[in-house]
Amino acid sequence: MKGIELKGKKEREFRAKILVGADGAHSVIARKTGCVTEPDPRHSCAAVRAYYTGVAGPKDRIELHFIDEVLPGYFWIFPVSKTEHNVGLGMLVKDMQGKHVNLKEVMFNAIEKNALFKPRFKNAKLSSEVRGWNLPLGSRRQKVHGNGYLLVGDAASLIDPFTGEGVGNATTSAKIASLVIEKALKLNDFSEQMLSEYADNLWAELGSELQTSYNLQRAGKWKFLLNLVIDKAANRPEVREFIGGTFTNEDAKKQLYSPLFYLKLLFA
Ligand SMILES: Cc1cc2nc3c(=O)[nH]c(=O)nc-3n(C[C@H](O)[C@H](O)[C@H](O)COP(=O)(O)OP(=O)(O)OC[C@H]3O[C@@H](n4cnc5c(N)ncnc54)[C@H](O)[C@@H]3O)c2cc1C
Repeated sequence: MKGIELKGKKEREFRAKILVGADGAHSVIARKTGCVTEPDPRHSCAAVRAYYTGVAGPKDRIELHFIDEVLPGYFWIFPVSKTEHNVGLGMLVKDMQGKHVNLKEVMFNAIEKNALFKPRFKNAKLSSEVRGWNLPLGSRRQKVHGNGYLLVGDAASLIDPFTGEGVGNATTSAKIASLVIEKALKLNDFSEQMLSEYADNLWAELGSELQTSYNLQRAGKWKFLLNLVIDKAANRPEVREFIGGTFTNEDAKKQLYSPLFYLKLLFA
């Protein structure tokens, strides 16, 4: 039997046949089981986020701006209501090392000095604190199971390394885990070997997409490629449609890192 100890006002111990680590980016269970020792800067993204009221401009779309300061990360502006926007940016931790980057300052600089955003934030007001997080990216395969336990979502380091999205993969991993747990309960077998079916099914479902996104993340460092794609997208609705699709469609993503795609775009 496996389990956890809760330490707070009262100390309590819970025992179970199987423990699911769904405790997010700083997962205690991932650390206690030895699946994660410390965050790997090559596979972690640092992000800051704040809410603003009174941001001028579109309220019917999400905006991703690939600003130089955080490439291949981006600055985002997401409408959350008619009056409020979720604003933030993220950057690969490895790219911040040795540069004394303060992401909060980078965000305020973009808002206050970037010619594109300055007029849009002229009458905007910060309506929350600025919060910072670490995002564990799925650009490497972390150990996600062992004797009597499984890790899902951010605890399993499954955030898409290109888009920074993690909700979809967290949900997918939970679904896969629940099917394997159902089988384990039927067989009354919670061994590492039995639970390896979770890891196999997880990587079969998400492995290729995560790899594609990692390739795209690396290609995103090439500013001229990004500019080429975005310039074409500005003038061509079908390129715009295609780029939108790359956030959800793996085949579209794969084309994005094929040299042929850029050649075609160059002469289109
Ligand atoms: C700034 C920012 C912006 C993001 N934007 C997007 C986006 O636009 N789209 C998207 O898809 N993803 C986005 N993500 C990523 C997304 O939030 C995560 O990938 C997703 O929430 C992971 O779900 P999870 O259930 O694994 O972890 P979490 O949502 O982090 O849930 C973990 C839960 O475990 C609890 N917990 C942790 N430790 C303990 C403990 N010791 N005891 C008890 N409970 C504990 C926490 O309180 C939390 O409720 C963003 C992340 C950040 C930081």
